Amino acid sequence: MTENPSYGFDTLQVHAGARPDPATGARQTPIYQTTAYVFRDADHAAALFNLQEVGYIYSRLTNPTVAVLQERIATLEGGIGAVCCSSGHAAQIMALFPLMGPGLNVVVSTRLYGGSVTQFSHTIKRFGWEAKFVDFDDLDAVRAAIDDNTRAVFCESIANPGGYITDLDAIAGVADAAGLPLIVDNTSATPYLCRPIEHGATLVVHSVTKYLTGNGTVMGGAVVDSGRFDWSASDRFPSLSAPEPAYHGLKFHETFGNLAFTFHGIAVGLRDLGMTMNPQAAHYALMGIETLSLRMEKHVANAKKVAAWLEQDPRVEYVTYAGLESSPYFDRVERICPKGAGALFTVAIKGGYEACVRLVDSLELFSHVANLGDTRSLVIHAASTTHRQLTEEQQIAAGAAPNVVRFSIGIEDADDLIRDLDQALAKAAG
Ligand SMILES: *Cc1c(COP(=O)(O)O)cnc(C)c1O
Repeated sequence: MTENPSYGFDTLQVHAGARPDPATGARQTPIYQTTAYVFRDADHAAALFNLQEVGYIYSRLTNPTVAVLQERIATLEGGIGAVCCSSGHAAQIMALFPLMGPGLNVVVSTRLYGGSVTQFSHTIKRFGWEAKFVDFDDLDAVRAAIDDNTRAVFCESIANPGGYITDLDAIAGVADAAGLPLIVDNTSATPYLCRPIEHGATLVVHSVTKYLTGNGTVMGGAVVDSGRFDWSASDRFPSLSAPEPAYHGLKFHETFGNLAFTFHGIAVGLRDLGMTMNPQAAHYALMGIETLSLRMEKHVANAKKVAAWLEQDPRVEYVTYAGLESSPYFDRVERICPKGAGALFTVAIKGGYEACVRLVDSLELFSHVANLGDTRSLVIHAASTTHRQLTEEQQIAAGAAPNVVRFSIGIEDADDLIRDLDQALAKAAG
């Protein structure tokens, strides 16, 4: 499509990045199921390998189907470029990799997806990286955690599993004052509900596995760059500002300007870490994104209705949905995610751990799975599954206490979901 910045979100989710296939006129983006691409001649090959010309070499780096998805996600997020990769967790490593090194740290919110807590508190230590966990509602604590070895600040826009909303503007202000990039995981909100770059985020990461694809078919991730960070303002980001030995001393920031992070993600990140998205996954993700706004509207409408019903039910202790007036984060919805607080929340059930397990086993429409952001309604008891590896203290900090279940509300009829919850709560209480 001819890029026209005045197109609205619904138009861009269908068209951005895609054009009829130049070889065949195919209207839907073809799945370019190929590993390699024929060079025009030896000079063309040399120019591609020197990064003097942009083109296709090998699908570990770039693939035309994946490239359409990258452009679509970058456009919807208001970024300048995006790199897709094999999963959301891969995206987090891909985002941190150019910034971090042995002895360096990232300041992260305590309210994160359980898998991210594990990745940050254990696995990244094997690279010599450290994550400092802080309550992101306490700006002084965030400031205090930043030291000379900090290279990034990381949080989720709408944090899984509690539906907590981060004050992105405030956190961006803290990161900015320290000369650090802010990385926001926007998986639970999607760019339809929240656009973190407009609130000061430097990079946005996604689990494409969730709402972007929307139907629970594929694994995928993305790192979107705002193009707004000055990587050469200090000597803290040498991967982007200093000569790169693997490319004859090329400096990414000097050479590629505000596309430096995206080029580095492909030319070094995907080339050497190899966390590549496959073209089939990109195809399913593109199909899903075409209906993103329609699905998110319905997800939010259903979540509001179901959360409100649960909140007034005597078998329920509390509901943590930011779309409810009782939520301490209700005030942030209008500013951070004006189209709604998403469709993820946790519910504390009277009767504790045992009642939660009985509830999960008694639900019929809700599937008990370790996933979210599906068209189907999903439920999980985080303390016995996704957040099982955490200490009870970490579980509580992450909004996943033992008496709490997490719901990901789908796009079915809200009344059917409520009927299902009603019968399952009766069994949980019994
Ligand atoms: C699922 C999820 C991830 C990890 O993504 P995968 O695609 O499963 O690797 C990261 N962050 C959030 C918020 C998620 O929901």
